Amino acid sequence: MILNTKNLAALFEEQLNSWEQAGSNYEALAKVLVKEVTVDGFPFKVQFNPARIVSSAAKVDAKSISERKCFLCKENRPAIQKGLEYINNENTENPYTVLINPFPIFPKHLTIPLLDHTLQLISGRFDAMLNLAKELPGYTLFYNGPKCGASAPDHFHFQAGNKGFLTIESELQNMELEPISQTNNTRVSLVKGVFSGLLLLDSNSPFEANEIFEKILTVLPVKEQEAEPMINILSWYATSGVYEGRYITLIYLRDKHRPSHYFAQDDANILLSPASVDLGGVLITPLEKDFNKISEREIKEIMDEILISESDTKAIVNKIKTVL
Ligand SMILES: [Zn+2]
Repeated sequence: MILNTKNLAALFEEQLNSWEQAGSNYEALAKVLVKEVTVDGFPFKVQFNPARIVSSAAKVDAKSISERKCFLCKENRPAIQKGLEYINNENTENPYTVLINPFPIFPKHLTIPLLDHTLQLISGRFDAMLNLAKELPGYTLFYNGPKCGASAPDHFHFQAGNKGFLTIESELQNMELEPISQTNNTRVSLVKGVFSGLLLLDSNSPFEANEIFEKILTVLPVKEQEAEPMINILSWYATSGVYEGRYITLIYLRDKHRPSHYFAQDDANILLSPASVDLGGVLITPLEKDFNKISEREIKEIMDEILISESDTKAIVNKIKTVL
């Protein structure tokens, strides 16, 4: 079956009824505890979500990855897990499959792998992210880089969650922007505030947005032994508000995969492995002690540590200006 709004609604209904694990995790999600914490004027939500321990504590080093069966490959997925096909740019050989994520953060949470078992690298595939955002107007798409929260760094995939959940979607219009470049269709800006190194690319042309994205990618620093810059990406197609009719993309430039709080052996320990959802304003804590403990100070420390510094941001913005 192909991806469309009707088929997706039917898939949710069918999977939550027939697949016990998914059904009970979605049911449990409705009862998770949430608290709000404002940091530098930005409203974060903290979600205590025990089922996400699978992802937050996931071992993503090369050895662990090579020793496990890939859970995004069709042959290894549970027989009960069904999907919808999405063909991007007429690539029928290697379509995407839209799956219900059985370990949800969002009330509607999708995982969207490519059919082929192929590395998590965004170059050449960002156009699919924009096209999927248009195809799924009720959802925000996200991409976690291989060293930035992807729990399957060996199998290319996006995820998506229903709109109205990540606080940045509505907060964006209140955040100060510093223009970087502008064409008739596309604007690139630096978003000021709690997230250092956050770029906004908003466009009414997915074609041009993709071209500009690829150019930006060429000037972002790549760490030794890594295949792409450390980034998380959110994309959505705005159907209302000040950005109505535009493709919105947020690119978070990362410095670290996991913050020192993650590794701390004492009271400072917080099991929080930040990825796109956390950077979108919803922090996931699988342990109750962390949910109770985390406050403005810890969130600020985590954000400052995992995102690039202000001086690195300035240098990158200057490089971006030379290619746009
Ligand atoms: Zn795979």
